Amino acid sequence: MSAGVVIAGGGLSGQRCAEALRQGGYGGAITIVSNEAHPPYDRPPLSKALLAGEKEQTEISFRSADWYEEQGIELLLGDGAAGLDVERRKLLLESGAQVDYEHLVIATGSRARQLPGSEQYENIHSLRTLDDAIRLRDVLRPGKRLVVLGAGLIGQEVAATAIGHGAEVTLIEAEPLPLARALHPEMAQWLVDLQREEGVEVKLGARVAELIGDGDRLEALLLDDGSRVELDEMLVAIGVIPNSDWLPDGIGLLTARPDIHGAGDVAGGDHWELAAHQGKAVAHAILGQGPAPVPFTGWWSDVHGVRLQGLGQPAANDEIVFEGSPGERDFHAVVSRDGVPVAALAVGQPREIPRLRKLLTEHASTQPAKEAA
Ligand SMILES: Cc1cc2nc3c(=O)[nH]c(=O)nc-3n(C[C@H](O)[C@H](O)[C@H](O)COP(=O)(O)OP(=O)(O)OC[C@H]3O[C@@H](n4cnc5c(N)ncnc54)[C@H](O)[C@@H]3O)c2cc1C
Repeated sequence: MSAGVVIAGGGLSGQRCAEALRQGGYGGAITIVSNEAHPPYDRPPLSKALLAGEKEQTEISFRSADWYEEQGIELLLGDGAAGLDVERRKLLLESGAQVDYEHLVIATGSRARQLPGSEQYENIHSLRTLDDAIRLRDVLRPGKRLVVLGAGLIGQEVAATAIGHGAEVTLIEAEPLPLARALHPEMAQWLVDLQREEGVEVKLGARVAELIGDGDRLEALLLDDGSRVELDEMLVAIGVIPNSDWLPDGIGLLTARPDIHGAGDVAGGDHWELAAHQGKAVAHAILGQGPAPVPFTGWWSDVHGVRLQGLGQPAANDEIVFEGSPGERDFHAVVSRDGVPVAALAVGQPREIPRLRKLLTEHASTQPAKEAA
């Protein structure tokens, strides 16, 4: 069955690849295989508007059911890629079905890392899928004590959304400051202060020493400083693992073949702009078009009604210059290394991003973001 282009993974990069193939005039079969039951949807609202109850699941779908029909794109939902026969060009599915391909796009994203020893507790959550978000939304109530373990972007956003809905939130981070890869220490400290001003209890440099439960419910965490944190629900947001374990030879080896391509988080990305770019770039490669220039991609986040947008990867000893009013949540900062701008962050100033992106692009001797394989 099938042939043409088969896309394993129905997330952002897979969707963008399918769209760009049709936009580029590709007339062959396109099949998107996803282990989720939902048609492709956008993930950023999961920790923001959808969790806050401001958006419903139908509003975060990339396209309507009619669009897939009109475009002749087949959606195979609720069945995961489980293996690959590279010589016979067959994608093997969990159900036992096989799908033939001329080109295979590996776009299976990543999954949330679990906390070892926590499997038996029903009040522990992760947040990667729409089903995860609905499950978490259903238990967030005013007065509920939510612990968020891990102060990365998802942890920051959920802490903000939950406290906005009356939950009592404790945000726990193992490192002395959060988001070391994305934020200069002065910016990370600003973000910690913002969470505290909004009522989130932030514990830094704190590691879990023991889980204290009763039956299938986790009741408290014992931290390595001896303190005890009581809880009703806990979100574990301690990083992700690429969904590449179904591949026989690892994604690097496979994507060296001309008929197999990788895009998005499974290929080493971790943010939206890069996954969208890589999905399109793979389509262009399949269409035989030359590689498009790689944009200087960045990330964004919404925390307590403030938009944060970051570009580049700062290091702790880089120089940082602020412009604007950090106290009023309206500023931007440029981070330089040896006098060369390498990273930037805008807070409440989306209008500054095109200029900052241009500044960094002009100075980039090497592109920090990874190109699609
Ligand atoms: C809650 C949340 C909030 C986010 N907010 C932001 C943000 O504000 N800004 C930002 O820049 N980035 C954000 N991101 C990151 C961004 O959404 C991701 O970088 C992007 O979705 C990656 O796209 P992808 O196509 O690589 O993977 P995904 O979108 O994860 O899609 C992969 C799909 O493949 C499916 N799959 C997995 N294994 C298999 C298999 N074996 N067979 C078939 N299908 C499979 C998965 O279930 C999933 O549907 C957020 C992510 C999350 C989870």
